[in-house]
Amino acid sequence: MALPAPNPERVYRVVPVPRIAGSSPPGSTARAVGVPRGHPLGSREIAHFWSVGAGQLDSLGVRAGLWQSWGWCGRHTLGFLAVEAAAERGWLFQAAVLFDELMQHAVRALASHWLFERARIEVALEGSACPACEAGLTREQEARQNDADLVEAGGSLEPLRAFACETRPWWDAWVCGACTASGAAPMCRPHLLAALRTGADIDLPGQRALVADIAGHADAFAAAFSWGRQGSETPADRAGLIGVAGWCGGWGAIREWIG
Ligand SMILES: [Zn+2]
Ligand SMILES: [Zn+2]
Repeated sequence: MALPAPNPERVYRVVPVPRIAGSSPPGSTARAVGVPRGHPLGSREIAHFWSVGAGQLDSLGVRAGLWQSWGWCGRHTLGFLAVEAAAERGWLFQAAVLFDELMQHAVRALASHWLFERARIEVALEGSACPACEAGLTREQEARQNDADLVEAGGSLEPLRAFACETRPWWDAWVCGACTASGAAPMCRPHLLAALRTGADIDLPGQRALVADIAGHADAFAAAFSWGRQGSETPADRAGLIGVAGWCGGWGAIREWIG
């Protein structure tokens, strides 16, 4: 992969142990696996993101693919975070590591450069298609019967809602003004990219500072999982996870799901 691995020197203390090691044997349960009540994800999407967090992200190749696509689309990035929050395995460790890496790439993407600065940033911010959308995952698809345990374990939106509400005072200032039509200065990656493409006026130093702020908190949250740093994160660092999801994929899903 062309992209370097961030934080190669950091040694994390948590080795997440999934509460559910894998799918139940086929036919072992008669539970329905339709869309969980009130959840914006479909049951197959929930089972998919359970599997992503339960081991796929241990692969540097999988994570490098996600760096190229800036995570998933806004809806699926928040979906991944929702399943991680519900899963109670590793206390958001997988999301912390992936999101920290994404924001380190964002800091590099927005780095100041005297030559063709806007064009270079525009190219760097373009992402490949959302891997979950590319795989055809939609809300309408139902999980296989033998994934019913995964859907049940990861299928509550309440843990994400509680996490987002508790940290809102710290992430509210990062919300993209274009996503919410508020006119606020912060821009998410999709809106920053759109503005670059249309040649609009952009306060690049301001957007750079925004990205550095979110990245700093996301990194501090990830660092709190490393040896000797346990519990060192602040509420603002926890808010960094919401900030990364919003910056990378846009804030539409967050406003829709969380309010
Ligand atoms: Zn998607
Ligand atoms: Zn936006």
